[in-house]
Amino acid sequence: MPPKFKTPLPAAAPEPPPARSPEPAFEVPTTWEGLRPAVAGCMRCKLCKTRTNTVFGVGLETASLMVVGEGPGADEDQQGEPFVGRAGKLLDEMLKAIGRSRKEQAPEKSVFIANVVKCRPPGNRDPEADEVEACRPYLDQQIRLVKPKLIVALGRIAAQRLLGTDAPLSKLRGPVHEYGPDRTPLLITYHPAYLLRSPGEKAKSWTDLKRVHQLLKA
Ligand code: URA
Ligand code: SF4
Repeated sequence: MPPKFKTPLPAAAPEPPPARSPEPAFEVPTTWEGLRPAVAGCMRCKLCKTRTNTVFGVGLETASLMVVGEGPGADEDQQGEPFVGRAGKLLDEMLKAIGRSRKEQAPEKSVFIANVVKCRPPGNRDPEADEVEACRPYLDQQIRLVKPKLIVALGRIAAQRLLGTDAPLSKLRGPVHEYGPDRTPLLITYHPAYLLRSPGEKAKSWTDLKRVHQLLKA
């Protein structure tokens, strides 16, 4: 006789977790018509919670020069356009000095202006690495669409984030770098907001602008 004891029921095997479909890979729209509304409704990082408006970028979609700043400030957040505050006025003067304007319609006289993040970091803090990475597909796609001859990054934060480095601006300013798979030439110069605080650096900024002009003529 087999012993009379109840074989305990085997413990139920833990339910396998419900099959979760993997996060769909983010596919950045490849056209301007797709990209603009994607940015306008974007919630890919926490900056979406505090923004008033996304700041897509402005200028000619086929400009031979692209300028990349750090991120929208208060004025830009209000108006939805990059570089419209005091620093923006100075940027416009700098561009005018090399015969360019965001309103021009000829590629060799125009510029497309964007930022590494499209939403304002609260209190104008630096954009954080995860925010820049979340937003990078939009900037990269803008670069792919504009196909500029040259990108100019304004200031240390934009430069460091684009190049993935912690090097100081003094090291980054000078050489012609390359950005992205298309290896677009990338030059780093001072941010106009910094020039407003340190007008003594304007001479060096002028040297950079002349270089930009030369590279675009070549
Ligand atoms: N500073 C930036 O870096 N970008 C802007 O759009 C405005 C100020
Ligand atoms: Fe989206 Fe860029 Fe705005 Fe973040 S900063 S919510 S990634 S558009």
